[in-house]
Amino acid sequence: MRLSEKQKKLLRNLPGVDHVIELSKTNSFFDNIPKTVLLRSIRTVIDDLRNIIFTDNQDISEQTISDLTILEKIQKNVNCLMKPNLLRVINATGVVIHTNLGRSLLAKEAIKHIITVSSYYSNLEFNLSTGKRGVRYSCVDDILCELCGAEAAMVVNNNAAAVFLCLETIAKSRKVIVSRGELVEIGGSFRIPDIMAKSGCILSEVGTTNRTHLKDYENAIERDTDRNTGLLLKVHTSNYNVVGFTASVSLNELVELGKKHQIPVMEDLGSGTFIDFSKFNLLKEPTITESVTAGVDIVTFSGDKLLGGPQAGIIVGKKKIIDKIKKNPIARILRIDKLTLAALEATLRLYRNTDQAVKMIPTLAMLTCPFEQIEKKAVVLSSMLESIKDPRMKINVFDISSRVGGGALPLLKLPSKCMGISIQEISANTIESHMRKNDCPIIGRIENDLFILDLRTIQDDELSVIKTAFANMLHIHR
Ligand SMILES: *Cc1c(COP(=O)(O)O)cnc(C)c1O
Repeated sequence: MRLSEKQKKLLRNLPGVDHVIELSKTNSFFDNIPKTVLLRSIRTVIDDLRNIIFTDNQDISEQTISDLTILEKIQKNVNCLMKPNLLRVINATGVVIHTNLGRSLLAKEAIKHIITVSSYYSNLEFNLSTGKRGVRYSCVDDILCELCGAEAAMVVNNNAAAVFLCLETIAKSRKVIVSRGELVEIGGSFRIPDIMAKSGCILSEVGTTNRTHLKDYENAIERDTDRNTGLLLKVHTSNYNVVGFTASVSLNELVELGKKHQIPVMEDLGSGTFIDFSKFNLLKEPTITESVTAGVDIVTFSGDKLLGGPQAGIIVGKKKIIDKIKKNPIARILRIDKLTLAALEATLRLYRNTDQAVKMIPTLAMLTCPFEQIEKKAVVLSSMLESIKDPRMKINVFDISSRVGGGALPLLKLPSKCMGISIQEISANTIESHMRKNDCPIIGRIENDLFILDLRTIQDDELSVIKTAFANMLHIHR
């Protein structure tokens, strides 16, 4: 690439890092900025400028690389670097269990317990009755068994880890029979066939995409003359439904078959819930207790989906198998940390009383929130936005459907209220990007040229933050 004389001159005159460090000493803004941050910013800004000059932008001039411009750019960059990367955001998408936005919000009780347990020493692996070394999971074992009637329980880092660990422990180098209709993929990187391969199991697919019968499982077991079938696996099709001409084998039938051939049965429930959602006018989702009662040997589920707790993988089932899982050296690699355990224990304790759980666990509260309450929130927010009194802004409140998300209840549409905002001379894309880059980012979506905020997932104390963000944006775009 040939450089113009102007480009060559600008590149020659582009100040070096040392010069800019000296320059920064003239501005008191930089007095308390850590050296590493300042250096990083200076390098970024100089590199950016060099690239701009190389791409021969018509607008570049000596002004572009003046001391003043450079210092301003560095100040902006430093401000960005001094903010944490992981930020609180406002979820205005209406997707309650939004994996990209951190899935479940923790109950106040869970947060309090995290603070207590992590601010002080704890009995994490110390048995207070014997004074000897204790077991990490013991703080949640009992309550998990109490809540679903299982013989034993254990927890790991997430449900993907739970599935992997169970497969590796129970059926390594052996065949695992799964229905073709249940070979799920969750969020890109979790796919049943891949997890199966990585855990050293041999996937034995039976049936077809839409129909699998008991006979298909039976035939697979009988065809396997080496008797090398180690597990019958049922996977809850958590993020899709197969509809139309379909057939699947019930958990009870699978358990019967497993007993007959002395092959353990495992179910990956995905989300997992202790609550029968049909009692709250939502669609039925299989409960953990139902799976345990059906006699499944091992059930796995997530801590941060419908359960509404921290990220965790929960395993419940028969003691003989869970003891083996606990002894697997891989369990140490997948182990859960103490902050998670604290949050999980506190969340599980809330489930002793269903009404209490539904009120105090934010995920459940948002899923079961009465329509009238969401409607009220919409009225409050729209009058707050009206009070900015900017004639360019048009606020429409209308009905919308929220989603559960997190690969749970994929067909359920929750009736909700949303606000559709349009502003004269500011495109919906500009509004969306401005809100996304707010100090406390506001994540909404665009539909029919409107910026849409679904009120279901917006917390009460976030309404004023939204108002301020709009007031600021309108001020900037006067
Ligand atoms: C979500 C899900 C998983 C993975 O759980 P994580 O907690 O995200 O690791 C596994 N299986 C099913 C069926 C799921 O829905």
